[in-house]
Amino acid sequence: MGASVKDKIARAAEVIDRLKAAYPNAKCSLSYSTPHELLVATILSAQCTDKRVNRVTRQLFEKYRSPEDYAYAAVEDLARDIHSCGYHNQKAKSIVGASLKIVEEFGGKVPGTMEALVGLPGVGRKTANCVLGECFGVPAMVIDTHMIRIMNLLGLTDSRNPQVIERQLKQLFEPRDWVGLTHMVIDHGRSICMARRPKCDECILSDLCPSSGVSNLGSEGGGRG
Ligand code: SF4
Repeated sequence: MGASVKDKIARAAEVIDRLKAAYPNAKCSLSYSTPHELLVATILSAQCTDKRVNRVTRQLFEKYRSPEDYAYAAVEDLARDIHSCGYHNQKAKSIVGASLKIVEEFGGKVPGTMEALVGLPGVGRKTANCVLGECFGVPAMVIDTHMIRIMNLLGLTDSRNPQVIERQLKQLFEPRDWVGLTHMVIDHGRSICMARRPKCDECILSDLCPSSGVSNLGSEGGGRG
């Protein structure tokens, strides 16, 4: 990292204060009513917008009402039901596999630890962090495409590797802010710091951001738009 850790911690504190003021209602934009529904929605959200996922799950959650319904579904049927989210065969396989393990090894309840969650088929650290933070009150930080791009622009990380970024950012931000940070950064990425045309002139972080006003900032493709 270029700047000193002390400098970054001070900047991170200012960043979070301003984000909280600008996005007081930032929250997970996936619709769900149980941890298992969030797990399904998060798997579907890879390389897909949350808006589209919510459109698909509105009907999906009517048809499949419990982890058992997914666990014993035919992968081809589920793939058809989630077709418009993209990568439907792989996602259906993950959802069925994860649900089967939840039913057979965890009594039908989504487990609340990182270790158990990433042991589920098709569940990576990002999905696990999302479920832990939203449903289990565990301080967890989701590193998605907006976090990777914007935290690099802000100079608060120098990595593109989600796991490294997570480790670096957890040293800069208070645990109580980890879950909210991602939601606020996603809102900021959608409204101001867009990948191809960041509105630095309107940005509340511009005086804290070493990338302010720099054109051709580059983009990070896909997902959760
Ligand atoms: S100043 Fe520009 S590059 Fe930096 S966070 Fe704001 S919009 Fe993004």
